[in-house]
Amino acid sequence: AARRDCPPDVESLGRATWSFLHTTAAYYPERPTARQRAHMLSLIHALPVLYPCSHCAGDFDEDVKGNPPDVSSRGALSRWLCERHNAVNEKLGKTRFDCAIESTDARWKDGPADGSCD
Ligand code: FAD
Repeated sequence: AARRDCPPDVESLGRATWSFLHTTAAYYPERPTARQRAHMLSLIHALPVLYPCSHCAGDFDEDVKGNPPDVSSRGALSRWLCERHNAVNEKLGKTRFDCAIESTDARWKDGPADGSCD
């Protein structure tokens, strides 16, 4: 029970944040309204200002400046976010994730085809 109630470190905060962001992208509408697009842009642009890991936030800000968010559809957003996560993976020496919609959906929405998450 020791670590369960500790404040999140950079790793566990990162896992929780990516879970929230990828899952939200996976359920974002195929045809978002203007309001939904605006709120998604706000959510993304808030991260570099508010994310409580300052070097993470700073690098993410640079990456987003060079790669503006595509909030036009579920598929476009899921890919954009996957690519941003891959930029962090690359920086940390982690494996790249396949950003095809089938892969991000299997991980964040539908579960694998073998039914092991059903
Ligand atoms: P995570 O990288 O947290 O990934 C969780 C799960 O997501 C993986 O198990 C995999 O199933 C899936 N996944 C992996 N890649 C992708 C992808 N490209 N698309 C979709 N799904 C994927 N940590 C630092 O040490 N330095 C930083 O500068 C830093 N910057 C960060 C910036 C942001 C905006 C965020 C949200 C996190 C940042 N982190 C940073 C945390 C870091 O990205 C990881 O979350 C942390 O190191 C834990 O890694 P993990 O191996 O458990 O898996």
